[in-house]
Amino acid sequence: MSEPIKSITIVGGGTAGWMAALILQSNFGDLTRPDAKMKITLIESPNVPTVGVGEATVPNMLRTLRMAGISEQDFFKTCNASFKLGVLFANWNVDRNGKQIDYVNPFAHPQVIAGVDLADYYLQYGAGKHDFIQCFSPAVALGEAFKGPRPLGEKAYAMPVGHAYHLDAGRFANMIRDICKSRGVQHIEEDVVHVEQDENGYVSALQLAETGRHETELVIDCTGFKGLIINEVMKEPFISYSNFLANDRAMAVQIPHPDPTKLPSLTRSYALGAGWVWRVPLYNRIGTGYVYSSAHRTDEEARDEFIAHLGDTWNGVEPRVIPMRVGRNRNAWVKNVVAVGLSGGFIEPLESTAIHMIDMSIRWLASYFPDKSYPDPLRDRYNKLTSKLYDEVRDFICLHYALGNRTDSQYWIDAREELEVPDRLAENLELWRYAVPGPLDLETEVLFSYATYQAVLLGKQVYNTDYPAPSFRRNGNLPANLWQGY
Ligand code: FAD
Repeated sequence: MSEPIKSITIVGGGTAGWMAALILQSNFGDLTRPDAKMKITLIESPNVPTVGVGEATVPNMLRTLRMAGISEQDFFKTCNASFKLGVLFANWNVDRNGKQIDYVNPFAHPQVIAGVDLADYYLQYGAGKHDFIQCFSPAVALGEAFKGPRPLGEKAYAMPVGHAYHLDAGRFANMIRDICKSRGVQHIEEDVVHVEQDENGYVSALQLAETGRHETELVIDCTGFKGLIINEVMKEPFISYSNFLANDRAMAVQIPHPDPTKLPSLTRSYALGAGWVWRVPLYNRIGTGYVYSSAHRTDEEARDEFIAHLGDTWNGVEPRVIPMRVGRNRNAWVKNVVAVGLSGGFIEPLESTAIHMIDMSIRWLASYFPDKSYPDPLRDRYNKLTSKLYDEVRDFICLHYALGNRTDSQYWIDAREELEVPDRLAENLELWRYAVPGPLDLETEVLFSYATYQAVLLGKQVYNTDYPAPSFRRNGNLPANLWQGY
């Protein structure tokens, strides 16, 4: 007979650890009840700091907060949050006259109207005259006007215009920590100094620095880039994405708003000489940082370039360097250990996807929750889903570089010409020379729909610069939308 798991041990108290605790607690109900069927313990080191970045999100965050019973108002106040309508990419491409282009990848995407795909329509009637996203999504105009996605007085969590949030990572982790503890999650602040395995290699106990042995059933490794349990103990191989993506370092700093009366509602990604700078506007400050390639810049060179970019907005605080391990574990779930967050894998934060991936990973774990026999089919399906999600995000990030057309620095030339393009993306890039991205083109779409691919291709103006016009433009027929109803 199957024996149920009665305890979950989460190691790590960053965003991943506390989100795992929150979602699992919501799944198992109030753990303070005497008849609670699950015990959840989170162990975090008082000595190892969290990564301290990760402040832009995608729209699923609304669902997560709502499902956890968190008031949106409390969330805004506690986390100094602001609305995010999408990402503005500045200086990533140039138009056919060599002028730099800005474009937005919004959460409110243009859709099919009256059977006509708007990208097709745009290419026939608007290309070269207007910006695609500006024509069909409110995100650009709202962003330019420093507005949010809904009128004052609208109900909490309402989404008339697709949006997500910017949030203070430290405050967010503390907020969900307090909620989890009030709902019965046990919190231990100690270092894990040794991991015990049974004769089958399953993790049976953790040695804690002060209180000693802590017995384990299911273990969630949220220990950050080092992957303390999944890599160091379980020896699961890490698959690097360095053949696809060059950036392996970041530096971060917090600066004041240049004009506190204007709160931007778009995350900004500004392309520099060897990478790009994020700019995440919170209510009370801006989080900014440079993501760059160590093959193209030393830390000192990157620092000088970044500070020069910040100009007068820099407050004199030295940026903190963060080495990034980019890629994913071969398997996220090995025996009784599931790696979530940076210990599971990481792809540069160009589309702010990591918190979403934490969220999905924990939801999938809840869907395929095992008993103590840890059935292979559950583990296999989970590993398949999480690996695909990492690969899907990787492909979408690679798209930004593969379609870059800057020639003013070796970095951008290498990013386009020297790095590998993942197979599925390479095949689609060939296809999209002749047809705009459509819903039949992507095998999986957990996060990025064909509309997001359209936004990037048309934002970069590829059909005006490098690509031939899709064929319908040559014969003048706007295709009927054959996809409707699928
Ligand atoms: P960490 O924050 O590193 O936490 C690790 C935890 O493990 C800590 O609590 C530590 O104390 C604990 N620990 C380590 N060793 C031990 C031990 N021996 N015993 C006990 N505990 C231990 N994501 C987004 O969604 N949007 C973004 O805009 C975004 N921007 C990013 C920018 C950069 C430059 C980087 C590097 C990441 C960004 N991310 C972003 C990713 C995001 O920051 C992470 O996914 C998120 O913070 C989760 O981190 P974590 O909890 O996995 O790891």
